[in-house]
Amino acid sequence: MALLTEVKKDWGTLKNYVNGEWIDSDSGKVIDIENPSTGATVGKVPMSTREETKAAIDAAHEAWWAWRETPPITRARLMFKLKELMEQHFEDVARIMVQEQGKTIDEARGETRRTIENVEVAAGVPSLMMGYNLEDGAAQGIDEDAVISPLGVFAAICPFNFPAMIPYWFWPYAVASGNTYILKPSSQVPITQNYLTKLVEEAGFPPGVLNLVNGSHEVSDTLMEHPKVKGISFVGSTPVAKYIYKHSAENGKRVQAQGGAKNSLVVMPDAVLDRTVPNMLASYYGCAGQRCLAGSNLIAVGDIADPLLKRWMEASKKMKMGYGMDESVNMGPVISAKAKKKVLELIDSAEKEGAKIILDGRNAKVPGYENGHFVGPTVIDQVTPDMRVAKEEIFGPVVQYMRMNSMDEALDFIDSSPFGNAASIYTSSGKSAREFRYRCQCGNIGINVGIVAAMAYFPFAGYKDSFFGDLHGQGQDAIKFFTDRKVVITRWF
Ligand code: NAD
Repeated sequence: MALLTEVKKDWGTLKNYVNGEWIDSDSGKVIDIENPSTGATVGKVPMSTREETKAAIDAAHEAWWAWRETPPITRARLMFKLKELMEQHFEDVARIMVQEQGKTIDEARGETRRTIENVEVAAGVPSLMMGYNLEDGAAQGIDEDAVISPLGVFAAICPFNFPAMIPYWFWPYAVASGNTYILKPSSQVPITQNYLTKLVEEAGFPPGVLNLVNGSHEVSDTLMEHPKVKGISFVGSTPVAKYIYKHSAENGKRVQAQGGAKNSLVVMPDAVLDRTVPNMLASYYGCAGQRCLAGSNLIAVGDIADPLLKRWMEASKKMKMGYGMDESVNMGPVISAKAKKKVLELIDSAEKEGAKIILDGRNAKVPGYENGHFVGPTVIDQVTPDMRVAKEEIFGPVVQYMRMNSMDEALDFIDSSPFGNAASIYTSSGKSAREFRYRCQCGNIGINVGIVAAMAYFPFAGYKDSFFGDLHGQGQDAIKFFTDRKVVITRWF
């Protein structure tokens, strides 16, 4: 596929990719894909039907056995080929994400790199899916083996905030280990996967091995209910994650469902402020706060509260908002008018509950981008644990500044949250860091690190209401999720 010289202004109506062919949906229902920075419509995405989803499941099921019989090293070579193509199209993938998701070009490049890393790790499948055995394991002369086998058709239902990377937490591992797959991207950001799937096609994966079906609830429900689908991977908000977990399990599926977050970053009196402030800025304002690993509550412990706040305000005021294609911009918009309304409503609620809005991004405007969904960096001071903003996921560039007397108090507060995705501590004390890491009930812990994004060879998921399931995305966990252990006991007479 030729490289894009510039990102298309109009992608037309996207197609589904089923059994190696690009197919129009007949549903008659399409929704606009909006560039959240400009407000322009950049394409349309179909809401595919139950029948169209079933056709994709049938294609994946048909393709499965031949793919399962394809040697792991051959499957791995296709992953290498895909990696090569992704490297060639690196900048295009990043720019498409800026266009449809609103992140900055730098953030989009970072995400593209993380997406490729998952392909690189999945290419290790010949080693990753080896089984184990024990001579005379059952009795003298009777050997026992555990072989690791793929299971069939898997599917992923994906969110809007990482259009490239999140589907790649799953499908490369599933396909590399011999399963076939169906992706349902978020209908808010479907272009990135559409583009990446063209690279998958070009890499030479056989028809039916990876299928792409655009749509919404009807597609998700069909994937969860169909007997030929073995398992579902989901990433999105907690209420939907709970529903997906329950409904998939009712239908006998394996399921891993990652939910929402409310992350606290704790700054101890002995934190190295020069390094802490820039690191935390990326956590709170990166991707306009729309990361499941974004900082949300900022907890200052003891007498660091005032000096930290002073520096924080200075740094926050320097953030440059705008369209992420401009390399000098360091924060984009939130995804939609609806998302912006929710963020503003939560900021309003804090004001009503007695907190002080000391940096107010509610009326932010970016000249030339009046139709973009921009919310400026917002700092809410004097937030207390009982306020809505301290408890609910905001998913915007909003900092809840909280003052506490000790790490114990901060840990008790973090523990009281139903979410458990991530938490960080900034300190120069090994003892404090060790205690924080030991006691904190979150799936991802940062020590002087504000965005705890596991590399592709480590597992990724949260605790509590941030994750429903047991095996995480990425790395060895993903291989285990997509395979089963078959025990063979052998005796020769
Ligand atoms: P969302 O829950 O609205 O949607 C996620 C996906 O589910 C989409 O593909 C959507 O079409 C589908 N969906 C929505 N409602 C459904 C229903 N009732 N039945 C079936 N399918 C349904 O999430 P979003 O707004 O796209 O993403 C933001 C959320 O994702 C935030 O809460 C964020 O914290 C979370 N998230 C979590 C992680 C993590 O690893 N824990 C990572 C990224 C994002």
